[in-house]
Amino acid sequence: METLSALLYLVASVCFIMALRGLSSPETSRQGNLYGMVGMTIAILTTLALPIVQSYWMIVLGIAIGGGIGYVIAKKIEMTALPQLVAAFHSLVGLAAVFVALSAFYSPEAYGIGVPGAIAKGSLVEMALGTAIGAITFTGSIVAFAKLQGLVTGKPLVFPFQHHLNAALGVLTILLILWLVQSNSSAALWLIVGVSLALGFLLILPIGGADMPVVISMLNSYSGWAAAGIGFTLQNNLLIITGALVGSSGAILSYIMCKGMNRSIFNVILGGFGGESAAAAAGVGGAERGTVKAGSPEDAAYIMKNAQSVIIVPGYGMAVAQAQHALREMADLLKKEGVDVKYAIHPVAGRMPGHMNVLLAEANVPYDEVFELEDINRDFGTADVAFVIGANDVTNPAAKTDPQSPIYGMPILDVEKAKTVFFIKRGMAAGYAGVENELFFRPNTMMLFGDAKKVTEEVVKATE
Ligand code: NAP
Repeated sequence: METLSALLYLVASVCFIMALRGLSSPETSRQGNLYGMVGMTIAILTTLALPIVQSYWMIVLGIAIGGGIGYVIAKKIEMTALPQLVAAFHSLVGLAAVFVALSAFYSPEAYGIGVPGAIAKGSLVEMALGTAIGAITFTGSIVAFAKLQGLVTGKPLVFPFQHHLNAALGVLTILLILWLVQSNSSAALWLIVGVSLALGFLLILPIGGADMPVVISMLNSYSGWAAAGIGFTLQNNLLIITGALVGSSGAILSYIMCKGMNRSIFNVILGGFGGESAAAAAGVGGAERGTVKAGSPEDAAYIMKNAQSVIIVPGYGMAVAQAQHALREMADLLKKEGVDVKYAIHPVAGRMPGHMNVLLAEANVPYDEVFELEDINRDFGTADVAFVIGANDVTNPAAKTDPQSPIYGMPILDVEKAKTVFFIKRGMAAGYAGVENELFFRPNTMMLFGDAKKVTEEVVKATE
């Protein structure tokens, strides 16, 4: 049985690796998902068939309660609320890691790692690391959830000597781990829980709204490492592999997003990046104001029909309005008129990594018309029209010109270089980072005020 389960765990692990590979491109993502589902089914069935499972009723009850809650949430959740849902789920992974470590500490015989007061040193290290990472993930994810849900301000919360305090708590955690390993003391373990809970809270608190995407993927990575820690405690190879896959892919994604946002990965891990400048000036764009020119959908249709090239820049507002289908219809009509139409995707457009790609794929936008920032930014200089639909921060030149801005340093889509820029949005509100966008006042900008879907549908009507 042991050899068979090891073999099946290996097959499941390979499925998970294939799943990650598949998810790296929109074309293969469905297949990737399928691999993931097959792998998870094999993993669950194999685990349930292990001889250590002595009774099923608790497991079935857990699956029924957890599965039921998950089903209801999945049915109800709006696409735009997914980031906070992900953050909430990460917190549960962290909490589970803490619970598993605590139960292993109080019943080590059940885990085959010793007896109370004399637990194997290696197991104590694994337990302590799982507890610390799990507790940091738990409170960090709760703060991220509260920020994304708007329960607390998205602005960075900074106070003097914050980094020193974080560093001191980090060192204290290491000392407590050493104490636990030396003494088997329950006080040491509970102190690790307490200090790590505080650390998770303090690490995420100073992070500003515009940097939340990186935080989400970083917490995703932490939750993976916490799961790997549980795997060591439970001596379950598959959990170790799966946790490590989640941990490392989350870390790679964070690295890619840091590069996209021009941030340092070390600052993210240590918490509080971008905090100082953001605190100084959130909400102030330093914009030179001019007059705002509002246009009609008919104006937009006329200009785009007569253009040679149009670059569409989708953002969070497109997701809110669910305007992707109308948008594709508009693009199809323009293509029929001989216009070259492309889509430009900023790495943090929307509210989760890949948000815009998912919505455009849902509307069957051809993949070869969708370009990443670095592949298309040059084209704005020769484009006739930039059609910005519900995007704001990702086009804001304050990221290049205002060192005091919370988004300073983030690469942006250079929409202002196009001959005409349309901004579809409901009013003059700032984007997620709370910074005014001076492009709204530029002479080559025309605002198309209204709900993104409604306005696009009217453009479609006027184009037909
Ligand atoms: P954004 O800066 O948040 O701007 C979205 C704009 O859409 C708003 O200015 C809003 O203006 C408009 N809008 C909202 N609902 C609309 C509707 N129904 N119809 C038309 N317009 C609507 O969005 P973004 O340019 O996509 O930038 C993303 C921001 O979110 C960045 O700051 C990024 O750092 C942050 N973020 C990203 C992620 C991620 O993983 N991608 C995660 C968390 C945070 P009105 O209210 O005036 O209409």
